[in-house]
Amino acid sequence: MIRRIIMHLHTYVYETKTLKRFHRVQKDMIREIRKYGDPVLFAKAETIDRIGQDELDILSDMWDTMLHNKCVGLSAPQIGISKRLFIVNAGGVTIKGANPEVLKEGTLIEDTEGSPCIPGVHKPVRRPGKITCRYLDESGEIVKTELKGVAARAFLHEKDHHDGILFIDHLKPIQKRLILKSFANQTLINHDDELSIMTPTPTREEIQEVAKKIRPSIEKIAIKNGWILNENKDIADSTIEGLARNKLIHGKRFCPCRIPTGDAEADKIYLCPCRDAAVDIETEGHCHCYLYMKKQ
Ligand code: SF4
Repeated sequence: MIRRIIMHLHTYVYETKTLKRFHRVQKDMIREIRKYGDPVLFAKAETIDRIGQDELDILSDMWDTMLHNKCVGLSAPQIGISKRLFIVNAGGVTIKGANPEVLKEGTLIEDTEGSPCIPGVHKPVRRPGKITCRYLDESGEIVKTELKGVAARAFLHEKDHHDGILFIDHLKPIQKRLILKSFANQTLINHDDELSIMTPTPTREEIQEVAKKIRPSIEKIAIKNGWILNENKDIADSTIEGLARNKLIHGKRFCPCRIPTGDAEADKIYLCPCRDAAVDIETEGHCHCYLYMKKQ
């Protein structure tokens, strides 16, 4: 509850332009890193038309968040913003930009990667050792350049996030499955609870199958409450798939953007629609995950 109030205050300060500038000069803006399972990490991010003040502010927060997490790059979806914004700070190269593209790729080289979205996991990934790439820089200029080594790797890694791809998606399916299983075990389980009845990390096909089944009841909930589902199909679909993933893992449709603690009683507030959905939809126009929206 206290955390929720703090988050609302934080959002208010952030969204009030004048106060935002004031707040920004006071201290670093370190944003929460979204963890594997959050639908924003699987969605296709929006292309940036122009770099305005909002984009610069997001890049600035991303920079602070990246330094805080000791990373060599960061992508906007990692802080919950589905936009094609990214940062690279590796191999002597610093880029803060948007819409990264790869024009030419060199020979594949293997090197270790990790991500704060999947803490504690580091694995070798094969990527081009050299690339020719293009992006929009902070001043809105299109830049075409060559990158190599760790800078090229960071650029490709961050660009992947814009298409819902994480570094573990480059591993063999069995390796990925084992990593996700151990990640889910570390993060979610209280073994004395009914929630501990854990299946291995479900496959995409299993998730889609369950998502198809639960969709009608999600639609019914929207109608019953006078809400609508997000008209952006990618966001609605990925959130419903997140609910389906939790249904497969925990037996209940917990919200994909909140990690259940394993305490069944406490976790009830995360069941979809969550306890705060009605208030959020009324005041902000959407639930926390942007699945349900206010009818206009
Ligand atoms: S209603 Fe609540 S639980 Fe359901 S998707 Fe939205 S934020 Fe998550």
